[in-house]
Parts: sequence; C-alpha cells; structure tokens
Amino acid sequence: MSFDTSSAAFVDSFGRAVRYLRLSVTDRCDLRCTYCMAEKMKFLPRKDVLSVEEMLKLARIFVTRGTRKIRVTGGEPLVRSDMMDLFEGLAPWRACGDLDEITLTTNGTLLARYAEDLTRFGVRRVNVSLDTLDADRYRALTRLGNIQRVLDGIDAAREAGLRIRLNAVASRGAFEEEVDDLISFAHLRGMDLAIIEEMPLGQTGCDRGQSCLSNATLRKSLSQRWTLTPARNDSGGPAQVFQVAETGGKLGFISPISCNFCAACNRVRLSCTGRLFTCLGDEGSVDLRTPAQRSDADVIAAIRDALWQKPERHSFDQATISSPNLDRHMSVLGG
Ligand code: SAM
Ligand code: SF4
Repeated sequence: MSFDTSSAAFVDSFGRAVRYLRLSVTDRCDLRCTYCMAEKMKFLPRKDVLSVEEMLKLARIFVTRGTRKIRVTGGEPLVRSDMMDLFEGLAPWRACGDLDEITLTTNGTLLARYAEDLTRFGVRRVNVSLDTLDADRYRALTRLGNIQRVLDGIDAAREAGLRIRLNAVASRGAFEEEVDDLISFAHLRGMDLAIIEEMPLGQTGCDRGQSCLSNATLRKSLSQRWTLTPARNDSGGPAQVFQVAETGGKLGFISPISCNFCAACNRVRLSCTGRLFTCLGDEGSVDLRTPAQRSDADVIAAIRDALWQKPERHSFDQATISSPNLDRHMSVLGG
C-alpha cells in the first residue's frame, strides 16, 4: 500500500528540504569505541525507548512529506531483538516506491545473524564500522570487541548480496600506518571505504586533541601513494568521494571539522526516545513521542517548529576539538 505523498515536503528556514531520516533505535551497544562512548555508560530505561510501532508511525509522517531515505542507526541497532520487525515494517514502503532506500549503520558484530533477513526486507546497502584490521588494536579501540565477528559479518553480508561501505574514524598514529591496508582490504572485496573525522561529541575519557586527525592532512599523505580522482557520490551524502586508480574502488572523506558541508544538508535525526534533532552539532530538539499520542497534525506542527530552528551550520571546529561541544555522545543519534 502506498501513502499519499503529495503533501509539501518539510523545509527548513534556509530552504533545505528534508529527504533523509536517520532513525536511532537504541542508545545501547555491545562495544565501547573510544571515540564514541565512555567506558562506563548509563543507558536509558527501556520504557523511555520508542517501540517499533511508534518508530513506524513517526517515520511514516516523514515519508508522506518528502523523506526518500531512512537509515537505521544507534547505538548498535542489531542489539535490539525486535529490529527485524522494524525492517519488515519498512520493507513495503520501499517496495511500493514511497522510499528510495532503507539502510543501516552497524558495527557488524551481529551482521552474520541478520544479513539474509536484511536483504529479504529490501536493504541493499549497509555501512559497517571498522577502523582497523588488527585484532589487538580493534579490541583496544572498541574496549570489548572481537574483530572476527565483524569479519564474519562482512562475509555474510557480501554473500547475502548486500553492498557494503566500511566506515573508519581517522586517528593519529596507528591508523595512519594502517590506512593503506584498509583501502586494499575494502576495495579487494568490492566495498567502498569512508574515512570520517572524529567529532567532539560527549566525554569519552580520551583526549580528542591527541587522536583527531584532519582528513585534509590524511588525504594529502594518501595522494602521495594512491591516485585519487574525484568521483560521483552515489549516496548523495556529505562525503567527498574519489576513485582510487590502483584498486578501482571508491574512497570517501567525511570531514565535518575541516570542510563544512551544511549548505546541502537534507537530513534530520530521530533519537530512540522520540526526540527530533535537526542538526548533529546542535543541542536543539523537540519531542515527537507525546504529540504522536495525539494526532499526526500535532506531530507535523512539532516537526515544522523544529525545522524552523535548524541552524544554518554545525559548530564543530579544530580549535575546540579537545572539549566536547555537546554532552551528547555520538551513540545517541548514530552519526
Ligand atoms: N553502532 C553502529 C556503528 O558503529 O556503526 C552505529 C552507530 S555509530 C555511533 C555510527 C558511526 O559513527 C560509526 O561509523 C562510528 O564510527 C561513528 N562515530 C562514533 N563516534 C564518532 C565521533 N566522535 N566522531 C565521528 N564519528 C563517530
Ligand atoms: Fe557502539 Fe557504534 Fe559507538 Fe562503537 S561507534 S560504541 S559500535 S555505537
């Protein structure tokens, strides 16, 4: 069944239409990546977290007003045992053309279990986060993780026919030494690789002033070893994408710190508690869970209000990288 999608799209005060909804389905995770979370985290009580039905109800309102793509993220989405119910609920929207894409960002530890289901529910591409190929370094970076589970997840996803983009957060030191191996690993397996600058969100117990590596610096050094030619960004996101001549694969740089891309922002983020954030780098948010218990019209009014407050651009910059701009951890909205 198709929705009536003829209503005017949601637009912010700078004329940017919302085409892309990121749905954070949980703040929980089976890892504690050093750039994302603190070692000890306090998670939300389950009653504060939206049910799958509530998520579908809110997502539907976005889809009827111009949203064409939904990314499920977290925390780690696949730690929620009812996640396949969400994908099953979204699947018909893509099948009937109301959505162009349903996708997922995952740390990959549970991907082997769910890869086939995801394909069955119309997911065609997933982003898998992997910052290193070294088992010890992976364990240190994630504080808990076993890299083999991610590698098995990647294999299962490829076998199930999912296209994969690896996401790696850039950092100084070992990452710079290993990045060539990550490029080869991804491209040999037909996967894209995106390198993300670390953003100052939440206290993690690690000094970002020590770890944060500018993509501008990294790209300069990569250009001495690889032939990078500007290429089309198929996902329409903020990554600057290059074709790597030596591998034939694609390498993207997502550079919120060194290269502001907010002018083309087409996305909003819904937290797992039902708060709508119009910008990852801004505290402004509105509650949609309560209005959803009343009527669609109330939700629509709340969304329009929030969009009116959407800032022109985020406020991350290199000078303040050591002290988080925001208390909120990345795991609240999932990127
Ligand atoms: N758990 C899933 C995962 O790791 O893919 C989804 C949520 S995670 C918060 C989404 C993405 O944000 C991951 O690619 C992760 O590497 C990235 N990320 C986490 N903290 C970050 C930070 N401080 N700066 C930049 N990217 C970050
Ligand atoms: Fe978990 Fe993803 Fe954050 Fe790592 S980046 S702690 S996997 S939510």
